Amino acid sequence: MNKIIAGNWKNNGNIEFIKNYFDFFLKNKNSNNQIILFPPDLYISQVHSYKVEKNFSVGGQRINSDGGSTHTSGTTSEMFLDNGCDYILIGHSEIRNLSDQYTYSAANDLYNSNGLQAIFCVGENEDSKKSGNTCDVLKKQLEDLCCKDNYPVISSKKAIIAYEPVWAIGTGNTPTIDNISHIHRFIKTYVSENHPFAKEKDIMVLYGGSVNSKNANDILSAPNVDGVLIGGASLDVKEFTTICNLKI
Ligand code: PEP
Repeated sequence: MNKIIAGNWKNNGNIEFIKNYFDFFLKNKNSNNQIILFPPDLYISQVHSYKVEKNFSVGGQRINSDGGSTHTSGTTSEMFLDNGCDYILIGHSEIRNLSDQYTYSAANDLYNSNGLQAIFCVGENEDSKKSGNTCDVLKKQLEDLCCKDNYPVISSKKAIIAYEPVWAIGTGNTPTIDNISHIHRFIKTYVSENHPFAKEKDIMVLYGGSVNSKNANDILSAPNVDGVLIGGASLDVKEFTTICNLKI
């Protein structure tokens, strides 16, 4: 079955990097997996110029319309759509973590994502994992995705959730394959029971956190894993292309 392979470049890249990246990627990609790249906002058009038909999709990393209709700085869903994006990351832990500087609401970003398919990130931190609270934390985070008040504003047909344990991001540590599978099952069940319209078949769960070309095959082959969201390893085009080309 085809999987989603998503690469989050975060705030990395420049014009030369992008040119070299696509010189290699377009020559060497040979799979039917669904590939999504999340470049920094300023390079979305640049990356989009390499898109031919459905060879990959482009996504935005963050809707930032906190200040209402007229506000200095920020990128709205309309701007992402206008520049060729089909996807938007919502609730990445690095954004949730900014909440001590200002109030962040994943529900607000979801509300503003009209037309973009959200990839809704959830994940427990190390303390919650140690104290056995993973599922409670996930439930709390998933409430924003499932909240009936957002309906019908959530126009996406699918619910795509990325399970990204915070302690696994950029650390080289990953949960066991059984753990990933078990938690993805929990997420699918919770969302199918609580989302206003997404049925089990409309729910995809990606795993994120220290995915690389060595562990990707095992993770992607696990039950309930519909894809991966890759940070660091997506910046290495050879590494990323190897993962994209996996046939699961
Ligand atoms: C991420 O930041 O979403 C991520 C998964 O990073 P990494 O792959 O580097 O752990």
